[in-house]
Amino acid sequence: MSSALLPIVDATAPRVGAELEETTQPRLRDSHNRLITDLRLSVTDRCNYRCVYCRTGNDGAQYSELPIEDYARILRLFVSMGIEKIRLTGGEPLLRNGLLDLVRETAQLRPAFSEAPIDVALTTNGHLLAPLAQELKDAGLSRITVSMDAVDPATFTRITRVPGSFERVQAGIRAAQDAGLGPIKINCVLLRGFNDSQIEAFAEFSRREQVIVRFIEFMPLEEDRTWSPETVVPMAEIVARLNAVRPLVALPPNNPSETARRFTFADGLGEIGIIAPVSQPFCGQCSRVRITSDGKLRTCLFSQSDHDLIGPMRSGLGDGQLRSRIRAIIERKEARHHIGEPGFLKPSRSMVHIGG
Ligand code: SAM
Repeated sequence: MSSALLPIVDATAPRVGAELEETTQPRLRDSHNRLITDLRLSVTDRCNYRCVYCRTGNDGAQYSELPIEDYARILRLFVSMGIEKIRLTGGEPLLRNGLLDLVRETAQLRPAFSEAPIDVALTTNGHLLAPLAQELKDAGLSRITVSMDAVDPATFTRITRVPGSFERVQAGIRAAQDAGLGPIKINCVLLRGFNDSQIEAFAEFSRREQVIVRFIEFMPLEEDRTWSPETVVPMAEIVARLNAVRPLVALPPNNPSETARRFTFADGLGEIGIIAPVSQPFCGQCSRVRITSDGKLRTCLFSQSDHDLIGPMRSGLGDGQLRSRIRAIIERKEARHHIGEPGFLKPSRSMVHIGG
Protein backbone atom coordinates (compact mmCIF):
# COMPACT_ATOMS: atom_id res chain seq x y z
CA MET A 1 0.00 0.00 0.00
CA SER A 2 1.25 3.48 -0.76
CA SER A 3 2.88 5.06 2.27
CA ALA A 4 1.91 8.47 0.87
CA LEU A 5 -1.72 7.84 1.76
CA LEU A 6 -2.88 9.93 4.67
CA PRO A 7 -3.75 8.04 7.87
CA ILE A 8 -7.31 6.87 8.12
CA VAL A 9 -9.54 5.78 10.97
CA ASP A 10 -8.45 2.39 12.29
CA ALA A 11 -11.43 0.03 12.24
CA THR A 12 -10.31 -1.56 15.49
CA ALA A 13 -9.80 1.72 17.39
CA PRO A 14 -12.49 3.41 19.50
CA ARG A 15 -14.61 5.72 17.33
CA VAL A 16 -13.20 8.93 18.79
CA GLY A 17 -13.26 10.88 15.51
CA ALA A 18 -16.71 9.65 14.59
CA GLU A 19 -18.12 10.53 18.02
CA LEU A 20 -16.75 14.03 17.76
CA GLU A 21 -18.41 14.47 14.38
CA GLU A 22 -21.71 13.18 15.73
CA THR A 23 -21.84 15.75 18.47
CA THR A 24 -20.49 18.66 16.46
CA GLN A 25 -22.32 18.43 13.16
CA PRO A 26 -25.71 17.32 11.87
CA ARG A 27 -26.16 14.57 9.29
CA LEU A 28 -25.66 15.43 5.63
CA ARG A 29 -29.04 16.52 4.31
CA ASP A 30 -30.24 18.66 1.41
CA SER A 31 -32.82 21.44 1.50
CA HIS A 32 -35.50 18.93 0.35
CA ASN A 33 -34.89 16.98 3.57
CA ARG A 34 -33.23 14.07 1.79
CA LEU A 35 -30.53 12.33 3.80
CA ILE A 36 -27.34 11.93 1.75
CA THR A 37 -25.72 8.59 2.50
CA ASP A 38 -24.38 7.37 -0.89
CA LEU A 39 -21.33 8.61 -2.78
CA ARG A 40 -20.20 7.51 -6.22
CA LEU A 41 -16.58 8.26 -6.98
CA SER A 42 -15.16 8.08 -10.48
CA VAL A 43 -11.50 7.05 -10.31
CA THR A 44 -10.84 7.60 -14.01
CA ASP A 45 -12.73 8.74 -17.09
CA ARG A 46 -10.76 6.39 -19.32
CA CYS A 47 -12.66 3.38 -20.62
CA ASN A 48 -11.65 0.36 -22.69
CA TYR A 49 -15.15 -0.05 -24.18
CA ARG A 50 -16.97 2.23 -26.63
CA CYS A 51 -20.55 1.30 -25.76
CA VAL A 52 -22.86 2.78 -28.38
CA TYR A 53 -25.19 4.34 -25.80
CA CYS A 54 -22.36 6.00 -23.86
CA ARG A 55 -19.45 7.04 -26.04
CA THR A 56 -18.59 8.08 -29.56
CA GLY A 57 -16.57 5.55 -31.57
CA ASN A 58 -13.50 7.85 -31.42
CA ASP A 59 -10.94 8.11 -28.69
CA GLY A 60 -9.86 11.70 -29.04
CA ALA A 61 -11.04 12.83 -25.61
CA GLN A 62 -8.90 14.45 -22.93
CA TYR A 63 -8.72 12.43 -19.73
CA SER A 64 -8.40 13.63 -16.18
CA GLU A 65 -7.53 11.66 -13.06
CA LEU A 66 -6.32 12.60 -9.60
CA PRO A 67 -3.71 10.82 -7.50
CA ILE A 68 -5.27 8.02 -5.45
CA GLU A 69 -4.32 9.92 -2.27
CA ASP A 70 -6.67 12.76 -3.26
CA TYR A 71 -9.58 10.37 -3.73
CA ALA A 72 -8.76 8.78 -0.37
CA ARG A 73 -8.92 12.18 1.36
CA ILE A 74 -12.23 13.02 -0.32
CA LEU A 75 -13.69 9.69 0.79
CA ARG A 76 -12.53 10.19 4.37
CA LEU A 77 -14.15 13.60 4.43
CA PHE A 78 -17.49 12.36 3.13
CA VAL A 79 -17.56 9.33 5.43
CA SER A 80 -16.91 11.63 8.38
CA MET A 81 -20.04 13.55 7.28
CA GLY A 82 -22.39 10.56 7.10
CA ILE A 83 -21.73 8.73 3.84
CA GLU A 84 -22.33 5.02 4.41
CA LYS A 85 -22.14 3.56 0.92
CA ILE A 86 -19.37 4.21 -1.58
CA ARG A 87 -19.42 3.03 -5.18
CA LEU A 88 -16.17 3.23 -7.13
CA THR A 89 -16.80 3.73 -10.81
CA GLY A 90 -15.52 5.44 -13.95
CA GLY A 91 -14.81 5.40 -16.91
CA GLU A 92 -13.59 1.89 -16.26
CA PRO A 93 -12.30 1.69 -12.67
CA LEU A 94 -10.26 -1.48 -13.25
CA LEU A 95 -8.00 0.50 -15.58
CA ARG A 96 -6.88 2.57 -12.63
CA ASN A 97 -3.51 1.92 -10.96
CA GLY A 98 -3.82 2.06 -7.20
CA LEU A 99 -7.46 0.92 -7.15
CA LEU A 100 -6.72 -1.94 -4.74
CA ASP A 101 -5.04 0.51 -2.33
CA LEU A 102 -8.09 2.73 -2.48
CA VAL A 103 -10.48 -0.19 -1.84
CA ARG A 104 -8.33 -1.28 1.10
CA GLU A 105 -8.29 2.24 2.59
CA THR A 106 -12.00 2.76 2.01
CA ALA A 107 -13.03 -0.56 3.53
CA GLN A 108 -11.45 0.52 6.83
CA LEU A 109 -13.42 3.76 7.13
CA ARG A 110 -16.19 3.88 9.70
CA PRO A 111 -19.40 5.77 8.97
CA ALA A 112 -19.91 8.67 11.35
CA PHE A 113 -23.56 7.99 12.12
CA SER A 114 -23.93 4.22 11.78
CA GLU A 115 -22.59 1.18 13.56
CA ALA A 116 -22.74 -0.81 10.32
CA PRO A 117 -19.49 -1.24 8.41
CA ILE A 118 -18.95 0.88 5.33
CA ASP A 119 -20.38 -0.59 2.13
CA VAL A 120 -17.78 -0.47 -0.67
CA ALA A 121 -19.11 -1.38 -4.11
CA LEU A 122 -17.63 -1.27 -7.61
CA THR A 123 -19.20 -0.92 -11.05
CA THR A 124 -17.15 -2.39 -13.89
CA ASN A 125 -17.55 -3.58 -17.43
CA GLY A 126 -15.83 -6.79 -16.29
CA HIS A 127 -13.23 -6.92 -19.06
CA LEU A 128 -10.28 -6.92 -16.65
CA LEU A 129 -12.09 -8.53 -13.73
CA ALA A 130 -11.08 -12.20 -13.88
CA PRO A 131 -7.50 -11.80 -12.56
CA LEU A 132 -8.50 -9.08 -10.06
CA ALA A 133 -11.68 -10.45 -8.46
CA GLN A 134 -10.02 -12.27 -5.56
CA GLU A 135 -7.69 -9.34 -4.81
CA LEU A 136 -10.65 -6.96 -4.76
CA LYS A 137 -12.49 -9.22 -2.34
CA ASP A 138 -9.40 -9.54 -0.13
CA ALA A 139 -8.96 -5.76 -0.16
CA GLY A 140 -12.43 -5.42 1.38
CA LEU A 141 -14.79 -4.88 -1.55
CA SER A 142 -18.34 -5.63 -0.39
CA ARG A 143 -20.24 -5.88 -3.69
CA ILE A 144 -19.75 -5.73 -7.42
CA THR A 145 -21.92 -4.74 -10.36
CA VAL A 146 -20.91 -5.85 -13.85
CA SER A 147 -22.36 -4.08 -16.88
CA MET A 148 -23.47 -6.50 -19.58
CA ASP A 149 -25.89 -5.35 -22.22
CA ALA A 150 -26.62 -8.62 -24.05
CA VAL A 151 -26.53 -12.37 -23.44
CA ASP A 152 -25.92 -12.94 -27.13
CA PRO A 153 -22.19 -12.50 -27.95
CA ALA A 154 -22.76 -10.86 -31.35
CA THR A 155 -25.18 -8.27 -29.95
CA PHE A 156 -22.84 -7.68 -27.02
CA THR A 157 -19.90 -6.94 -29.30
CA ARG A 158 -22.03 -4.69 -31.49
CA ILE A 159 -22.67 -2.59 -28.36
CA THR A 160 -19.19 -2.56 -26.79
CA ARG A 161 -17.40 -2.31 -30.17
CA VAL A 162 -14.58 -4.47 -28.73
CA PRO A 163 -14.06 -7.95 -30.26
CA GLY A 164 -13.78 -10.77 -27.71
CA SER A 165 -15.39 -8.68 -24.98
CA PHE A 166 -18.24 -11.13 -24.26
CA GLU A 167 -15.95 -14.00 -23.25
CA ARG A 168 -13.84 -11.69 -21.07
CA VAL A 169 -16.90 -10.45 -19.19
CA GLN A 170 -18.26 -13.98 -18.64
CA ALA A 171 -14.88 -14.99 -17.19
CA GLY A 172 -14.97 -11.91 -14.96
CA ILE A 173 -18.43 -12.74 -13.62
CA ARG A 174 -17.42 -16.33 -12.86
CA ALA A 175 -14.23 -15.17 -11.10
CA ALA A 176 -16.21 -12.68 -8.99
CA GLN A 177 -18.61 -15.45 -7.99
CA ASP A 178 -15.73 -17.77 -7.10
CA ALA A 179 -14.14 -14.98 -5.03
CA GLY A 180 -17.33 -14.67 -2.93
CA LEU A 181 -18.45 -11.31 -4.32
CA GLY A 182 -21.95 -12.62 -5.04
CA PRO A 183 -24.79 -12.07 -5.42
CA ILE A 184 -23.49 -10.20 -8.45
CA LYS A 185 -25.58 -7.51 -10.07
CA ILE A 186 -25.62 -7.33 -13.84
CA ASN A 187 -26.55 -3.93 -15.30
CA CYS A 188 -28.18 -3.90 -18.72
CA VAL A 189 -29.07 -0.60 -20.40
CA LEU A 190 -31.88 -1.32 -22.85
CA LEU A 191 -31.86 0.48 -26.19
CA ARG A 192 -34.76 0.15 -28.56
CA GLY A 193 -33.66 -1.73 -31.67
CA PHE A 194 -30.28 -2.71 -30.22
CA ASN A 195 -30.77 -5.14 -27.36
CA ASP A 196 -34.46 -5.08 -26.41
CA SER A 197 -34.67 -8.55 -27.99
CA GLN A 198 -32.61 -9.79 -25.00
CA ILE A 199 -35.11 -9.15 -22.19
CA GLU A 200 -36.47 -12.69 -21.89
CA ALA A 201 -33.02 -14.28 -22.34
CA PHE A 202 -31.69 -12.11 -19.51
CA ALA A 203 -34.39 -13.50 -17.18
CA GLU A 204 -33.15 -17.01 -17.94
CA PHE A 205 -29.55 -15.84 -17.44
CA SER A 206 -30.46 -14.53 -13.97
CA ARG A 207 -32.04 -17.86 -13.03
CA ARG A 208 -29.29 -20.02 -14.49
CA GLU A 209 -26.27 -18.03 -13.25
CA GLN A 210 -27.84 -16.88 -9.95
CA VAL A 211 -27.12 -13.22 -10.64
CA ILE A 212 -29.36 -10.18 -10.16
CA VAL A 213 -30.15 -8.73 -13.58
CA ARG A 214 -31.04 -5.04 -13.54
CA PHE A 215 -32.53 -3.40 -16.60
CA ILE A 216 -31.82 0.34 -16.79
CA GLU A 217 -33.79 2.82 -18.88
CA PHE A 218 -31.51 4.69 -21.29
CA MET A 219 -30.93 8.27 -20.07
CA PRO A 220 -29.78 11.30 -22.10
CA LEU A 221 -26.19 11.14 -20.86
CA GLU A 222 -24.45 9.84 -23.98
CA GLU A 223 -21.60 11.60 -25.75
CA ASP A 224 -23.04 11.67 -29.23
CA ARG A 225 -26.60 12.79 -28.54
CA THR A 226 -28.54 9.81 -29.88
CA TRP A 227 -31.12 9.77 -27.07
CA SER A 228 -34.77 10.40 -27.84
CA PRO A 229 -37.88 9.22 -25.96
CA GLU A 230 -38.33 6.54 -28.63
CA THR A 231 -34.98 4.92 -27.80
CA VAL A 232 -36.08 4.20 -24.20
CA VAL A 233 -37.62 0.82 -23.35
CA PRO A 234 -39.92 1.77 -20.45
CA MET A 235 -40.39 -0.24 -17.29
CA ALA A 236 -44.03 -1.13 -18.09
CA GLU A 237 -42.95 -2.81 -21.31
CA ILE A 238 -40.14 -4.75 -19.60
CA VAL A 239 -42.55 -6.00 -16.91
CA ALA A 240 -45.17 -7.02 -19.51
CA ARG A 241 -42.61 -8.89 -21.61
CA LEU A 242 -41.21 -10.80 -18.62
CA ASN A 243 -44.66 -11.56 -17.24
CA ALA A 244 -45.75 -13.04 -20.54
CA VAL A 245 -43.10 -15.75 -20.23
CA ARG A 246 -43.10 -16.37 -16.48
CA PRO A 247 -45.16 -14.38 -13.98
CA LEU A 248 -43.15 -11.91 -11.89
CA VAL A 249 -43.50 -11.60 -8.11
CA ALA A 250 -42.67 -8.19 -6.58
CA LEU A 251 -40.02 -8.07 -3.85
CA PRO A 252 -39.79 -5.34 -1.17
CA PRO A 253 -37.03 -2.71 -1.52
CA ASN A 254 -33.80 -3.43 0.37
CA ASN A 255 -33.76 0.19 1.59
CA PRO A 256 -35.90 3.34 1.17
CA SER A 257 -33.59 4.95 -1.43
CA GLU A 258 -33.21 1.83 -3.60
CA THR A 259 -33.24 2.78 -7.28
CA ALA A 260 -34.48 -0.59 -8.61
CA ARG A 261 -37.95 -2.11 -8.40
CA ARG A 262 -37.24 -5.73 -7.48
CA PHE A 263 -38.92 -8.89 -8.74
CA THR A 264 -38.45 -12.63 -8.65
CA PHE A 265 -40.48 -15.48 -10.15
CA ALA A 266 -43.03 -17.78 -8.46
CA ASP A 267 -40.39 -20.46 -7.75
CA GLY A 268 -38.06 -17.87 -6.17
CA LEU A 269 -35.35 -18.52 -8.74
CA GLY A 270 -33.71 -15.44 -10.29
CA GLU A 271 -33.96 -11.76 -9.42
CA ILE A 272 -34.79 -8.89 -11.74
CA GLY A 273 -34.39 -5.20 -10.92
CA ILE A 274 -35.78 -2.44 -13.09
CA ILE A 275 -34.29 1.03 -12.78
CA ALA A 276 -36.68 3.46 -14.41
CA PRO A 277 -35.36 7.02 -14.03
CA VAL A 278 -37.16 8.13 -17.21
CA SER A 279 -40.65 6.59 -16.94
CA GLN A 280 -40.85 6.42 -13.12
CA PRO A 281 -38.32 8.85 -11.59
CA PHE A 282 -37.21 8.26 -8.01
CA CYS A 283 -35.63 11.66 -7.31
CA GLY A 284 -37.75 12.13 -4.17
CA GLN A 285 -35.79 9.30 -2.50
CA CYS A 286 -32.39 10.21 -3.94
CA SER A 287 -29.59 9.78 -1.39
CA ARG A 288 -26.67 10.11 -3.83
CA VAL A 289 -23.98 12.58 -4.80
CA ARG A 290 -21.06 12.04 -7.15
CA ILE A 291 -17.40 12.98 -7.43
CA THR A 292 -15.96 13.13 -10.94
CA SER A 293 -12.49 11.80 -11.70
CA ASP A 294 -11.17 15.40 -11.70
CA GLY A 295 -12.47 16.03 -8.20
CA LYS A 296 -15.74 17.88 -8.86
CA LEU A 297 -18.79 17.34 -6.67
CA ARG A 298 -22.02 16.75 -8.65
CA THR A 299 -25.30 16.76 -6.82
CA CYS A 300 -27.37 15.24 -9.67
CA LEU A 301 -26.58 13.23 -12.80
CA PHE A 302 -28.33 16.02 -14.69
CA SER A 303 -26.65 19.00 -12.99
CA GLN A 304 -25.77 21.91 -15.25
CA SER A 305 -22.56 22.51 -13.33
CA ASP A 306 -20.33 20.87 -10.78
CA HIS A 307 -18.27 22.12 -7.84
CA ASP A 308 -14.52 21.90 -7.59
CA LEU A 309 -13.14 20.32 -4.41
CA ILE A 310 -9.60 19.64 -5.50
CA GLY A 311 -8.61 23.31 -6.01
CA PRO A 312 -9.65 24.24 -2.45
CA MET A 313 -8.00 21.06 -1.12
CA ARG A 314 -4.73 21.90 -2.84
CA SER A 315 -4.86 25.53 -1.73
CA GLY A 316 -4.64 24.31 1.85
CA LEU A 317 -8.22 24.37 3.11
CA GLY A 318 -8.55 22.26 6.25
CA ASP A 319 -11.04 19.43 6.66
CA GLY A 320 -13.44 21.62 8.66
CA GLN A 321 -13.57 24.26 5.93
CA LEU A 322 -13.97 21.61 3.25
CA ARG A 323 -16.86 20.05 5.18
CA SER A 324 -18.60 23.44 5.35
CA ARG A 325 -18.14 23.89 1.62
CA ILE A 326 -19.47 20.38 0.87
CA ARG A 327 -22.44 20.87 3.18
CA ALA A 328 -23.37 24.17 1.48
CA ILE A 329 -23.19 22.58 -1.99
CA ILE A 330 -25.24 19.55 -1.01
CA GLU A 331 -27.89 21.71 0.59
CA ARG A 332 -28.61 23.07 -2.91
CA LYS A 333 -29.03 19.60 -4.49
CA GLU A 334 -31.57 19.72 -7.31
CA ALA A 335 -35.11 18.60 -6.43
CA ARG A 336 -35.35 16.36 -9.50
CA HIS A 337 -34.32 15.88 -13.10
CA HIS A 338 -36.42 17.14 -15.99
CA ILE A 339 -35.93 14.40 -18.62
CA GLY A 340 -38.69 14.48 -21.23
CA GLU A 341 -40.02 17.89 -20.18
CA PRO A 342 -40.09 20.88 -22.55
CA GLY A 343 -36.86 22.88 -22.19
CA PHE A 344 -34.89 19.92 -20.76
CA LEU A 345 -31.19 20.75 -20.91
CA LYS A 346 -28.67 17.95 -21.27
CA PRO A 347 -26.21 17.88 -18.37
CA SER A 348 -22.87 19.62 -18.60
CA ARG A 349 -21.01 16.27 -18.87
CA SER A 350 -21.68 12.82 -20.33
CA MET A 351 -21.88 9.60 -18.28
CA VAL A 352 -18.33 8.43 -18.99
CA HIS A 353 -17.02 11.71 -17.51
CA ILE A 354 -19.49 11.92 -14.62
CA GLY A 355 -19.09 8.33 -13.41
CA GLY A 356 -22.12 6.05 -13.55
N1 SAM B 1 -17.15 1.15 -16.98
C1 SAM B 1 -17.99 0.75 -15.89
C2 SAM B 1 -19.17 -0.05 -16.41
O1 SAM B 1 -19.23 -0.32 -17.60
O2 SAM B 1 -20.00 -0.44 -15.61
C3 SAM B 1 -18.47 1.89 -15.00
C4 SAM B 1 -18.91 3.15 -15.64
S1 SAM B 1 -20.42 3.05 -16.55
C5 SAM B 1 -20.58 4.74 -17.04
C6 SAM B 1 -21.60 2.82 -15.27
C7 SAM B 1 -22.97 2.37 -15.68
O3 SAM B 1 -23.63 3.43 -16.37
C8 SAM B 1 -23.00 1.18 -16.61
O4 SAM B 1 -23.85 0.18 -16.08
C9 SAM B 1 -23.56 1.74 -17.89
O5 SAM B 1 -24.28 0.78 -18.58
C10 SAM B 1 -24.43 2.87 -17.38
N2 SAM B 1 -24.72 3.90 -18.39
C11 SAM B 1 -23.85 4.52 -19.19
N3 SAM B 1 -24.49 5.41 -19.99
C12 SAM B 1 -25.79 5.33 -19.67
C13 SAM B 1 -26.97 6.00 -20.13
N4 SAM B 1 -26.90 6.93 -21.08
N5 SAM B 1 -28.15 5.68 -19.58
C14 SAM B 1 -28.22 4.74 -18.61
N6 SAM B 1 -27.15 4.09 -18.11
C15 SAM B 1 -25.95 4.37 -18.64
